[in-house]
Amino acid sequence: MTIDALIVGAGFSGSVIARLLAENTKAKILVIDSRDHIGGNCYDYVNQYGIRVSKYGAHLFHTKRQDVWDFISSYGTWEPWEHKVLAKIYPRDGCDESVHVPVPVCIQTIQQLYDPSIETEEDMRRWLAEETKNVINSGPFKNSMESAVARFGCRIYNDFFRNYTWKQWNKYPDNLDSSVLERIPLRYDRDDRYFTDPIQMLPSCGYTQVFDQLLDHPQIEIKLSTDYFLERHCFNGVQFTVFTGPIDGYFASYGLDRLEYRSLHFEDFNINVEQNDAVVQPASVVNEPSMRVPYTRTVEFKQFLNQRSPYSTLVREYSSSFGEPYYPVPNDQNLKLYSKYQQLAVKETGKERRNVQFLGRLANYKYLNMDQAIGNALDHWQQWKTEGFLKEMV
Ligand code: FAD
Ligand code: UDP
Repeated sequence: MTIDALIVGAGFSGSVIARLLAENTKAKILVIDSRDHIGGNCYDYVNQYGIRVSKYGAHLFHTKRQDVWDFISSYGTWEPWEHKVLAKIYPRDGCDESVHVPVPVCIQTIQQLYDPSIETEEDMRRWLAEETKNVINSGPFKNSMESAVARFGCRIYNDFFRNYTWKQWNKYPDNLDSSVLERIPLRYDRDDRYFTDPIQMLPSCGYTQVFDQLLDHPQIEIKLSTDYFLERHCFNGVQFTVFTGPIDGYFASYGLDRLEYRSLHFEDFNINVEQNDAVVQPASVVNEPSMRVPYTRTVEFKQFLNQRSPYSTLVREYSSSFGEPYYPVPNDQNLKLYSKYQQLAVKETGKERRNVQFLGRLANYKYLNMDQAIGNALDHWQQWKTEGFLKEMV
């Protein structure tokens, strides 16, 4: 077919824009993805044991934005799910005894690990004030070590963040932008949920169904296993392109250094637990902040939405510099380099022509949650409409 709009990437960024274009214009839209499935990093499937597994790591939807939820909840079916995470901590050096404590740090974490007498919010504030009394830096923070030590003190920083961050990023927190550890909240109460957003949901039949419905429109065609970088010459005449892949790949011929990303490798194993409701670990996600094991966390997928199966599928996550790009690595050097790519993107987008747009976690080189990726796409759509540059397609 002759196409008016090309969307590179069938993750949330690309799929939301494809849907908005289809519903609001007459454009014929082609969505391509280099992978053999839709859904980007949110893709999931049911495995041979009847358990829904996310191919690229557990995905929990949470948002404060009502407009994001109003939009996405009309695709697929969703149900409330509040995520909880435990960290496996070895309280004594050289001893194999471990405890599972809640993350983010809350009253129960401190009680179990450091001081059983902590009961109230007031106790917690007093305890933390004592832990951080020698910290003179009150911000602005230059890196994640400074911001975490100022909030948590050195003990919690060392037990929970220093080594986990090393395993995840191959950098200690003092070499990462403060935003990385600022993602992790600190609770003064007993709220041990991983997120506190008012909307916390999981799709009952998986994220892939949400994407199937998002992309199910007569104006949208999907072509999988199609790499834009190998086939971009075929799309030269397309009026409008939205690119959601890695920005340094798009501008690879410009001779700039490549951006740094972290990738993940997943190791799964299946255990016969014999009973439909039996599980293996004490929470759906167990973080491993110690250096005793090389992986960062283990996910037991059966626990999400209390799935039933006589087996359980567990997946360990290993972070790596090699493989598909998952996480942009935010530090000074990479952010400076990214700003050069951003300048190229501004030129490419072109004030008059406006025919290429860069959206999403990889194209914006930014750690985005799903709701932020969806919200970003909705916001851009509004902006494009206001600026009127899609009018030829309407
Ligand atoms: P992506 O989903 O990465 O989609 C980009 C797509 O572009 C990919 O499908 C890719 O194959 C395709 N592409 C790239 N290059 C090309 C090319 N050259 N040609 C064709 N196609 C190309 N968010 C949450 O809110 N909650 C969570 O619990 C959560 N957990 C996460 C866990 C992990 C391990 C990871 C990595 C991310 C997690 N996220 C989570 C973030 C979530 O995955 C992202 O917000 C979301 O995937 C962003 O969507 P996107 O469309 O921008 O990018
Ligand atoms: N982190 C940590 N210890 C933990 C959990 C997280 O040090 O127990 C740090 C780590 O650097 C991680 C970052 O906090 O990359 C963000 O964690 P989050 O769970 O939000 O990341 P994601 O689920 O996206 O991997």
